[in-house]
Amino acid sequence: MTELSGLYQDVILEHNRSPRNFRRMDDADSHAEGRNPLCGDQLTVWLKLSGDRVSDVSFEGSGCAISKASASLMTTAVKGKSRGEIDRLFRQFHEVVTGKSPPQDGSRRELGKLAVFSGIASFPVRVKCATLSWHALKAALERPSGSVSTE
Ligand code: ZN
Repeated sequence: MTELSGLYQDVILEHNRSPRNFRRMDDADSHAEGRNPLCGDQLTVWLKLSGDRVSDVSFEGSGCAISKASASLMTTAVKGKSRGEIDRLFRQFHEVVTGKSPPQDGSRRELGKLAVFSGIASFPVRVKCATLSWHALKAALERPSGSVSTE
């Protein structure tokens, strides 16, 4: 893990230590499980919908600091957003973590704190950790009670 130390910026560490929206949601409208066997990350994302918008979202699971911090930041970023807005945000996030889009372009402002994951682009094996919760979120939005694996 030492070669990754540069990634462990304060935001990631802090969200790993005290993840936001880290709880089961018993009255959720939908949920999906995400697994990243490569790293051992496993998490479930729950959400509540209000029309086209995600009115509440939570997650629970275990995994590396990146997967947990990314899930935590994902929940804070998508709450209150519409499906279309979430699609666009995920696309931008994916481009930044895979290095397809320089984080200093216009998308950085929209990504907000999610931009801390731009360092992941130098560690391709970690991209799946950073995007796992987003894939689970998408699965939960597309079909209730689905599951998704990065493999
Ligand atoms: Zn991981």
